[in-house]
Amino acid sequence: MISIAEVAVDETTQRLVLEVLRSGRLAQGPMVEAFESAFCEATGASHAIAVNSGTAALEATLFALGIGSGDEVITTPLTFSATLNAIIGTGATVRFADIGADYCLDPARVEALCNERTKAVVAVHLYGCPADLGKIAPWLAERGIMLIEDAAQALGASIGSHSVGTIGHGCFSFYASKTLTTGEGGMVTTSDAGVAERVRLLRNQGMATPYEYLLPGRNLRMPELSAALGVAQMPHVDPDQAARRENAAVLSEALASIEGIVLPLEPPGRTHAYSLYTVQMPERCPLSRDAAVQSFRAKAIGASVYYPRTVSDYPCYRGLDTVQTDPVPHAEHASRRVISLPVHARLSPNDLDRVATTACEVLGLQ
Ligand SMILES: *Cc1c(COP(=O)(O)O)cnc(C)c1O
Repeated sequence: MISIAEVAVDETTQRLVLEVLRSGRLAQGPMVEAFESAFCEATGASHAIAVNSGTAALEATLFALGIGSGDEVITTPLTFSATLNAIIGTGATVRFADIGADYCLDPARVEALCNERTKAVVAVHLYGCPADLGKIAPWLAERGIMLIEDAAQALGASIGSHSVGTIGHGCFSFYASKTLTTGEGGMVTTSDAGVAERVRLLRNQGMATPYEYLLPGRNLRMPELSAALGVAQMPHVDPDQAARRENAAVLSEALASIEGIVLPLEPPGRTHAYSLYTVQMPERCPLSRDAAVQSFRAKAIGASVYYPRTVSDYPCYRGLDTVQTDPVPHAEHASRRVISLPVHARLSPNDLDRVATTACEVLGLQ
């Protein structure tokens, strides 16, 4: 099976994991600090605070920005539930702005939803494509609205010379399927020392020093073993992204011959991380999307759907007062047609050829 994501465990990983085991210190310590420093260096962030999941990174950032009941937070309808759940958890009202052709927030739709209650926007860099923050960030800054970047899928992506996660407050995930994985894990990046301090306090039961509680905190700490995996993978971020970008280019060239397919786009000035290679099925494809996914899997290609429905389109969210649904026709359309194909850095030329050939067979109209 050619899987949608693959974990590489090299010698350095094994050495660093053993180093942690032998040190006798397993809870947050020097390896976590080393991971945070490497992350600042790689992204250009002033502060990086490791936590135990991407969800925790979002929750801690929303907390540090003081978002709560009575506030409105705008986000995208095409994302993973964690983005929505983190906002709901604050008590704020969630509103959804529709997406553009990049699968991310459409700046014009964000502007249309902003009002005096709008406290923050959570932009998701979906599939590794940076959202249009060149437009969104200055517009929000003028109005004092805070910007959070859900960069869970976008480590390595950039907008101009700025790494994602350094334009607003950044939230990264190192869950098993992400391009850098610690099994579970996350990171908050920010240029605001006050936000960094509050995230650090929240992470460790509100303590700056032992048993001096400065706020009601949580336990969001990252274990040393997880940090060892992160430190070992940091040097692979750039070369792996370069490999995925090359793979994406090969796929796009091969799939361009499929009539009616919508290929991923990389808008000018934005560098796509291609954590996922996502196309939209041709409207006239005789197969349903479920049948297409099954055909790929029958041919040992791990095609997957991110995401089959807009995030609030589930009974568990429908009755909530704090989830407000505005019309999002573009996101609904995309959610019915998207399908992601393997693009990861460990694909051999032969694997890539199989993905392309199979895609032409399954999605082609003949
Ligand atoms: C993976 C992901 C998250 C959540 O990260 P976890 O580490 O699984 O908590 C949040 N947002 C997006 C867009 C993601 O892809």
